[in-house]
Formats: sequence, structure tokens, C-alpha cells
Amino acid sequence: MGKMFKSFATALAVVLAAPAASQTAAPAATATAPQVTYIHAGTLLDRPGQAPRGNSTIVVRDGMVAEIRDGFVAPPAGATLVDLSRRFVMPGMIDLHVHLWGIGGDPMRERLTRLNTDDADDMMTSVGNAKKTLAAGFTTVRDLGGNPRGIRALRDAVERGDVEGPSIVNAGSMISVSGGHGDGTNGLAAEWADAVHAHQINVCDGPDECRRAVRQQVGLGAQVIKFAATGGVLSNVAGGLGRAMTPEEMRAIVDTAHALGRKATAHSHAAEGTKAALEAGVDSIEHGSYLDDETIRLFKTRGAWLVPTEIAPIAALAQARSGALPPATIPKAEAAAVAMHASHKRAFAAGVKFAFGTDTGVSKHGDNATEFVQLIDLGMTPAQAIRSATVDAATVLGRDDLGTLAPGKRADIIAVTGSPLDDVRRLEQVDFVMHKGVVAKQPAA
Ligand SMILES: [Zn+2]
Repeated sequence: MGKMFKSFATALAVVLAAPAASQTAAPAATATAPQVTYIHAGTLLDRPGQAPRGNSTIVVRDGMVAEIRDGFVAPPAGATLVDLSRRFVMPGMIDLHVHLWGIGGDPMRERLTRLNTDDADDMMTSVGNAKKTLAAGFTTVRDLGGNPRGIRALRDAVERGDVEGPSIVNAGSMISVSGGHGDGTNGLAAEWADAVHAHQINVCDGPDECRRAVRQQVGLGAQVIKFAATGGVLSNVAGGLGRAMTPEEMRAIVDTAHALGRKATAHSHAAEGTKAALEAGVDSIEHGSYLDDETIRLFKTRGAWLVPTEIAPIAALAQARSGALPPATIPKAEAAAVAMHASHKRAFAAGVKFAFGTDTGVSKHGDNATEFVQLIDLGMTPAQAIRSATVDAATVLGRDDLGTLAPGKRADIIAVTGSPLDDVRRLEQVDFVMHKGVVAKQPAA
């Protein structure tokens, strides 16, 4: 077997090396001409966090940035010109916390009360959600909870080019303890609870079961592992937002995820849950609504990221007050909304690393960029807020081909009118979107 593999690997290496070697020779009969696009950018923020460039030309070849040149360079014959000479151009944005699966802000009540929709309906809704997300300028998202097979299918359909949407880094289902935030039987009548419980594999009690749950999510295609360290706002449980999982369970989850080459992120509200997750070695914390000095110190010594999701409690509170959510969620939404903003202000001032994520799905798909003004309110400059949704979010994903525009990076490119470095709200109106070198949205003439 070893020998066979080796010779196969050698053959593969030869095949892979061939195109480069034959570039000067006549192209093979089956080869298609490379897709080349010249983008004229009025202002180009190629490396968020650094100063933008003036008039520039981005040369895009086969889905990647091939070259960036000063001034407006005329495209050669056969290349396409995209004129963004009066616009602000920057890398596609990354949202580290969305739920594309089946929910979309407003229809929450419908989802919680209707029994005649199933995964097939949710699959179709998620296709629409993906399209809205890309049109809003988000070219990559981390999906932190949905039907594992459905989200994986959506991820792969986007990569094939069959469905228009952002590239997806998928978590599958959130791992949770029994009765916790990710236990789908919460609040259900006994006859329904039994049916749900029978095929629910993301729920675990005790370290061994939690290891099993991580392995099963990876088996279903998860690229990142998410677990519920504490209670959550939207689950139909009156148990509050306190720590739900034991430190031993969290350690088992994080260690198993890391051993399988996956990062682990924790949904966490109470400081006690966040502390235990950070001590377990988690890579990032979602929400982090209640932060004390000790927790803030732990973030920094562990080098973990905070994904703030500022707009989630705002949207949840509005829905709860309008009666769209079960009564158990109302006091939780109120408490989280008040605590989160104050906690995050302190954390940002203290130097905790923030990376952009919104929990969209609680709020409406396509409204992701409304998070930016909330970040400014925490004390970020527009440049820092933009960096959190590009360079920093790419770092959290461990992806050095995303987040900046330079030769060899992926051609995920957006444009807005006016500078978002002056007013981040301009990112709420994205005029142009290119995903992997393919134009998904053009400015209205
Ligand atoms: Zn979420």
C-alpha cells in the first residue's frame, strides 16, 4: 500500500508540475484561456489596518489576485475591465458567526410555531440567505450552527459555483449538554422531544460523550467545532445564561477538536463559562456578554479572540418584546443586551483581540454590516473595525489567502461609494462584489 501510494503521489506531483513547465509551450487543445479581469480602483484598501492606496489596478487571473499596479492600467485584448475608478475598493468581508440554516430574523415566530416545515424547506431558505449575505459584501462566513449535512451541501454547492453565496466554514451542530442551549428537545412536548432526542448526536454529558460528539460532527463534515459553554438567549429554557458545561467536558471538546485539526469556539455568556472555556484552550469566544477583570486577563494571556455579536442581543430583545419569542427568552435577552455592550467596552480598552461576527440569523441576513457602528461605539476606529472583519477574521480562520489583497490572495473584492474609513455605515451599502474572481454584484448604472 505504502509503495502504491508513493508512486501515485509521484505521478500526481508530475501532473501538478506540468502546467507551469509547459506555460511557454503551445497550450494544450483542451486548455481554456485564463479569465483575466482588470479592476480600476479609485481608492484601494489592500491591507486593512494600513493606509489605503490611491488610483490602482488590480489584475485578477483565475480567481486570484495576480498583480496590483499603481494608476489605471489599460487591460490587454481579451481581458475584462471593471470600472471602480470612483469607488473605494477593499477585500471581501468575513463574518465569523452566522446561521444560514433556515432562520432569518423576522420569521423567528413562524419557525418556532410551525410544525409543517422540515429540513427541505430550511435548505431552500439557506440558499436564499447565502445569496443575500454575498450581496451584502461578505465573501466568507463561518456558519456556527445548522443542519450539518445541509450546511455542508450548501458549502460545497457554493464552491462548485452552483449556488451564489459566500465561502462557508461550517461547524455543523453546536455541541451542548442535555437541557443546554443546543439541546433541540428543550421546550418540546414529550412526544416531540422523544422523536428529536432519537437522532440528536450533538448533545453530550461527560467528557467521553463530548469527545464522541466532536468526532461525529467532524465525521459529518465540520471544519470548526462550536460548543455551548453556557445557556443561551434564544433556547426555550429558563435556566439563565450561567455555565452549563463542566470544565472537564470543555477540555475534552477542545482537545478532541484540536487533535482533529479543527479550531474550537465557545458560545458563552456568563464569565464563569468564558473562564472555563479559555482555560480549556478554546480559540475564540462568541458573545462573551459578562466579562470581569479576571476573564479579560485570561483572554490576553491565552491569546484568544472575542467575537462580539453586538447586534444579536439588540435583535433578540426587539423580537422578544414584540412577542415573537417564548417568554423564557425575554429576561435573558434583556440581561444580555445590557451587559454585553459594557463588557465589550472594557475588554476592548484592555486590549482583548476582537474579530468580526454578528450571529446573523438572529438578526436579518444581509444586515451583517450594521454591526460596524456598534464596534465604533465600543471604541474602535473605522480602520480597526474594518480590520476586524478582514485581516483579523482571516487570522481566526487560519486563512492567509483571505483578508488582504495582494498577489496570490483570493480575488474576494468589494467596493463602496465614499470612504468607510470616514463613516463605517458606508459598508451597509456595498455596490460591487467579486467572489473568487467572479462578479456577483455590479454597481447600478
Ligand atoms: Zn449563534
